[in-house]
Amino acid sequence: MTEVVATPPAAASKVNLLDFDREGLREFFAQLGEKPYRAEQVMKWIYHNLEDDFGNMTDLGKALRAKLGEACYVGRPNTLVDKAAADGTHKWLLGMDTGNAVETVYIPEPTRGTLCVSSQIGCALNCQFCSTGAQGFNRNLSTAEIIGQVWVAAKYLGNVTHQNRRITNVVMMGMGEPLANFDNVVAAMKLMRDDLGFGLASKRVTLSTAGMVPWIDKLSDAIDVSLAVSLHAANDELRTELMPINKRYPLAELTAACQRWVARKPRTSITFEYTLMKGVNDQPEHAKQLIRFMRRLPTCKVNLIPFNPFPGTQFERSDADTIRAFQTQLLNAGILTMLRRTRGDDIDAACGQLAGQVHDRTRRSAEIRKRVNAEVTHAV
Ligand code: SAH
Repeated sequence: MTEVVATPPAAASKVNLLDFDREGLREFFAQLGEKPYRAEQVMKWIYHNLEDDFGNMTDLGKALRAKLGEACYVGRPNTLVDKAAADGTHKWLLGMDTGNAVETVYIPEPTRGTLCVSSQIGCALNCQFCSTGAQGFNRNLSTAEIIGQVWVAAKYLGNVTHQNRRITNVVMMGMGEPLANFDNVVAAMKLMRDDLGFGLASKRVTLSTAGMVPWIDKLSDAIDVSLAVSLHAANDELRTELMPINKRYPLAELTAACQRWVARKPRTSITFEYTLMKGVNDQPEHAKQLIRFMRRLPTCKVNLIPFNPFPGTQFERSDADTIRAFQTQLLNAGILTMLRRTRGDDIDAACGQLAGQVHDRTRRSAEIRKRVNAEVTHAV
């Protein structure tokens, strides 16, 4: 909750109310000498009415409105670009500070609308098949910058909390590794869940992690949300090749953490994401390994994602037949297995395609650019 958000210079010394969960907001109001219920009134204005101007918060006295205007503001990210895909998917490029922007994606379906939210500017984990990883890493997003993505999308979509929900689900599956930005992500998810915030049930707020084992345990103590784990390979050698984090937290440790999660939340399950890459992790023996892995987590399920290409990648999407055969093998073994439809790929909004604008502090993006340029030159 400590990062400073990009704000107009006049507001630089003011506090951004989007940085506070309910408890934090009550404390802030106490510091201002105001009653806690005032904090809750303001919260409703911000998240139910999507109001960012204290002047319009008509059930607050004039004096309080003026006081708030002096001390704080409601600061959301700037929309730099918004794009609609042919299938109704919508993507926003949201500016966080000079030089950095992240992407947020809305995916409408007949019975729900899912918002895919980013947690970091870039990502430091360097998963080989992910375009965010190739962008390198700049910094964590603040709580305000995370919940601000939901706020901007809700306002654009005409979302009305508890009435006309356009956003029925939020998934922390955008740019970044959410568990590497634990405190800010948890505070933002509290606002997603809070009745005075966006009021979403625990099943409808999902955090996806590449497998940062100690923080999986911390998460189950901190907040009630759903968990997804990016697996992509069920043998250590291949998983380490694809996801360097596996070296630090190998499959045995990840499995044990997932078993602890399930034991603590008996009625929930974990979704394992498995991106299918041609000839890499899509063969019958890989499905067999995955089946063996899933046997230790019998209440959990698998979500297969056809690989989405991006410039400079060495991977390709598996063929439709291979994907079907892989799914059938799992289903025949009694494992609940869904296939994620690719959405919004015409605007690069599909899984693993989010790149934003990252002022890279690592050298990774430069190396990848070099490789892409070399390939282009080679092709010419
Ligand atoms: N860092 C978190 C959140 C990102 S979620 C995590 O790893 O879970 C995004 C999901 O899309 C992850 O499961 C990720 O592994 C997957 N993904 C990444 N690149 C992809 C690509 N090119 N094609 C399909 N899925 C991809």
